[in-house]
Amino acid sequence: MNVPLLDLKAQYKAIKPEIMAAIEAVCDEQGFILGPRVLELEQAVAKYVGASHAIGCASGSDALLLSMMAMEIGHGHEVITVPFTFFATAGSISESGARPVFVDVQPDTFNMDPAKIEAKITPRTRAIMPVHLFGQCADMEAINAIAQRRNLTVIEDACQAIGSSRNGVKAGALGDTGCFSFFPTKNLGGFGDGGMITTRAAPLSEKLMMLRVHGSKIRYVHELPGINSRLDALQAAVLRVKLNHLDKWVEGRQRNARRYEQLFADAKLSERITLPKTDKGNVHVYNQFTIRAHRRDDLRTYLKEKGIGSETYYPIPLHLQSCYRELGYKKGDFPISERAAEEVMSLPVYAELTEDQQAHVVRTIADFYRHA
Ligand SMILES: *Cc1c(COP(=O)(O)O)cnc(C)c1O
Repeated sequence: MNVPLLDLKAQYKAIKPEIMAAIEAVCDEQGFILGPRVLELEQAVAKYVGASHAIGCASGSDALLLSMMAMEIGHGHEVITVPFTFFATAGSISESGARPVFVDVQPDTFNMDPAKIEAKITPRTRAIMPVHLFGQCADMEAINAIAQRRNLTVIEDACQAIGSSRNGVKAGALGDTGCFSFFPTKNLGGFGDGGMITTRAAPLSEKLMMLRVHGSKIRYVHELPGINSRLDALQAAVLRVKLNHLDKWVEGRQRNARRYEQLFADAKLSERITLPKTDKGNVHVYNQFTIRAHRRDDLRTYLKEKGIGSETYYPIPLHLQSCYRELGYKKGDFPISERAAEEVMSLPVYAELTEDQQAHVVRTIADFYRHA
């Protein structure tokens, strides 16, 4: 039995007629950049997230970058974020001209530890960029309280967390801006790159809409030095169809997470495997089901031999990446992140995964610890 980490073909098969009709409509219209399809998606995402405005752009990375541009964050500024995340989080800060400043994560949720933020604030700090890693929100009450007290803005990296919520408020409506990615492996994935920014602030929204089209509201009149970061109509049409199915897919992921909990409990693997924990008040959408595993790399090799997909998100914390040598960090600076990088692996959790496949995954893991 083969169990891939993600099976996009299974999802596509179930919605193919709807998707093809949406693509055909765009082809008939021959309007490909922004336009009514993108506007329709923006309005639907704003409503879904509970933010008043949503602005489509070319990627999640650009959503982060555009947020900083709109807040006039750049050279000479610092933005506080975490080292245990996808590179784009910190990469977008560097791209803006600002300097990423790291704080460690919490061991249970892998999200930013608010208790470690204040010590890193300097006169140059402009924003805090928490990541809702793997699909559950960071401790936004604590983060927002610090930001308010120290007059900083909060940019949510919600790229993995569309649909997740904290105390009833959805990711993307918790900070000053929320940044989403429609990369195909995210819970709401397009047929290529795409991204979106949500915000409750009308002036920020207006600025973001200009910045994504070269800083221009009226053609060839440029009020701001913007960039080209637009969402395609084709992507928007596909995403609009998929958004209707998102909650059902998320429920499938949550059901599979509960099933893993039961299967792992029955297999009595608690000394080898640590299951993901959901923080109080959070609704977890499981973009990844990430465990800590004893002898992680050997286990992953074993699973691969048996046809079971897994991945390590992320094997090298960002403060130890060679491109960030000049930031002056060293091994030992963020021990929780470093340890997570050594221990974590993600298992298949997509909605179409069958009960048999999940049982097979857990049985194979149990076999590994029994024999290897
Ligand atoms: C996917 C992702 C991004 C970047 O999104 P792209 O659309 O690939 O640019 C940023 N941050 C996190 C945490 C992500 O998972």
